[in-house]
Amino acid sequence: MCKKTVIEAKIIQNQEIAQGVYRMVLSAPEIAAGASCGQFVNLYPKAKHTLLPRPISICEIGEDTLTLVYGVVGEGTREFAGYNAGETIRVSSAIGTGFKPQKTKTAVLVGGGIGVPPLVELAKQMSGEKIAVIGFRDEPFLKEELEKAGAKVYIATDSGKTGFKGNVIELIQEQGISGDYFYSCGPKVMLKALAAYCESINTPVQVSLEERMGCGYGACVGCVCKIKENTETGYEHKKVCKDGPVFLGSEVVWDE
Ligand SMILES: Cc1cc2nc3c(=O)[nH]c(=O)nc-3n(C[C@H](O)[C@H](O)[C@H](O)COP(=O)(O)OP(=O)(O)OC[C@H]3O[C@@H](n4cnc5c(N)ncnc54)[C@H](O)[C@@H]3O)c2cc1C
Repeated sequence: MCKKTVIEAKIIQNQEIAQGVYRMVLSAPEIAAGASCGQFVNLYPKAKHTLLPRPISICEIGEDTLTLVYGVVGEGTREFAGYNAGETIRVSSAIGTGFKPQKTKTAVLVGGGIGVPPLVELAKQMSGEKIAVIGFRDEPFLKEELEKAGAKVYIATDSGKTGFKGNVIELIQEQGISGDYFYSCGPKVMLKALAAYCESINTPVQVSLEERMGCGYGACVGCVCKIKENTETGYEHKKVCKDGPVFLGSEVVWDE
């Protein structure tokens, strides 16, 4: 099991950057020092009845800070959105097995909605050419941050309000975007389609899975996924919180 450390971190910024999407910057040097791209932290709501911590991916790792970007979907994230700079929040150390940046000529980073944040730190840590293809329902966010990290950014929206009207895979095909390695985070349906696309073009892809989690430390087994193994059943259950959230697209059993 991962070592569990929870600290009270000072909120430096908590600002709405798109409708219902917030950027929270925490002063947390001890957590930042041990964090890597594609990992997540557990944020603890203060309200007693919201028992479980909420897992949020690390968007950027600073020398003394952690940046998180979260969407408001329920009670916990609604509570977080109400915090002001200067207040504190309980946050865990960085958890999970994140992205493994590869030495590549061209990397393609594919994000969907609230799955885009961990791609920012990944882009920052990679050398070589970087192309980010990011999809949203309507309103994009984190474009500038990805550009600052050296990525050429392509945007797709369902509404067609910004960028290409359609999904990220249609955009990749339309623009003829290619690379020697793909990385992705977003809704499962997008990851599944991207894994199939990458298989068809014989290119590896790392995918960050998102399952509902209980403890976030590998103890409650609430977030398992099926990973292909040479066993009788052909798969093994792995914990998204500890063995993941990042797996190779080719090793995930998608149909369930
Ligand atoms: C490894 C990991 C990394 C994540 N990173 C981010 C991130 O960077 N930014 C971000 O905004 N969110 C992220 N999430 C999702 C985030 O944890 C949930 O949105 C949050 O816990 C919801 O808490 P809540 O109390 O607001 O909502 P709840 O009241 O708990 O739930 C409200 C609604 O959200 C749905 N929901 C809750 N959790 C999830 C989930 N994990 N996946 C899909 N639907 C869910 C519920 O089914 C329900 O419909 C991540 C989740 C995981 C597992």
